[in-house]
Amino acid sequence: MKPAQFDYISPSTVEAAVEALVASNGEGKVLAGGQSLLPLLNFRMARPAVLVDLNGIAGLSYIEDRGDRIAIGALTRHRELEHSPLIALKLPVMSAAMRHVAHLAIRNRGTIGGSLSHADPAAELPMLATFYEAGISVQGPSGRRKIAPGDFFVDALTSCLEPEEIVVEVEFPILKQDGWAFEEVARRFGDFALASIAVSVRHGITGLESARVAVMGVADTPLRLREAEEGLVAMELNDRTPDRFSEIVASLVSPNDDLHASAGYRTHLLAQLAKRALRTALAMRG
Ligand code: FAD
Repeated sequence: MKPAQFDYISPSTVEAAVEALVASNGEGKVLAGGQSLLPLLNFRMARPAVLVDLNGIAGLSYIEDRGDRIAIGALTRHRELEHSPLIALKLPVMSAAMRHVAHLAIRNRGTIGGSLSHADPAAELPMLATFYEAGISVQGPSGRRKIAPGDFFVDALTSCLEPEEIVVEVEFPILKQDGWAFEEVARRFGDFALASIAVSVRHGITGLESARVAVMGVADTPLRLREAEEGLVAMELNDRTPDRFSEIVASLVSPNDDLHASAGYRTHLLAQLAKRALRTALAMRG
């Protein structure tokens, strides 16, 4: 199919893009990489009156070291994140996860701002934002605000963005960790995940000093599992730890049955991935 008719605007500043969205009276849509939006237009599941293309705005694509954080501009493509030496060094979980995002052609065009705004519950970048507790900066008619992932992702394919707001930057705090892992299962490589988990750990004098755990594909939004983090820090580290961790993780999710997998299968997958991820993370320290 072909899209329904729309006007096309290509502003050169974020302010002009916001003005165009305001002028569209809720009938405008932002275009970034187009990898999710264009199929929706072609199937006429989205029929915006105005398409506001962000690709002509200079300065929205960057990966910047800010000491304890890495700032990423909204128009930064998935492929740049996948191959960035800075991301590999400072945000290794993101670096490992990016090669699971769709296929090469999609990663060449898809953007971090588009992925977060699209809010797919089985997409890697929303999960990574949740894992790292990223700050998502958005700009609207009354200026900028920074949103935590727990507030940003409201439901499947639904964020808290107002129709006139644009994601402009995402800041990822650098985790203090000495072990980490990212595990995912999809039906075919490049498909959306059936289940996935990211784990990072930091050893103390005895046991773990801190842990970070996030999952996706098992709820309508990505989830940070704070109870699993606390459980892990409280545990004695021995051969049984990955099994006990896996039981805690599985007990904290309640996915729905859907076309792709039953709830029981997703929970089982996640439990196995949790075990594997923790083993990898703990083994990194040697
Ligand atoms: P667009 O398609 O341009 O826009 C998507 C939505 O976000 C639209 O509603 C748009 O208005 C809005 N938007 C875009 N940018 C902004 C912004 N800066 N501020 C506010 N709103 C904005 N993704 C994964 O994570 N994992 C996968 O495994 C995966 N598999 C895929 C497989 C296929 C076959 C396809 C077609 C896509 C897949 N994707 C996957 C999605 C892909 O990563 C998209 O690129 C991404 O979700 C959207 O990014 P985009 O830049 O293309 O956004």
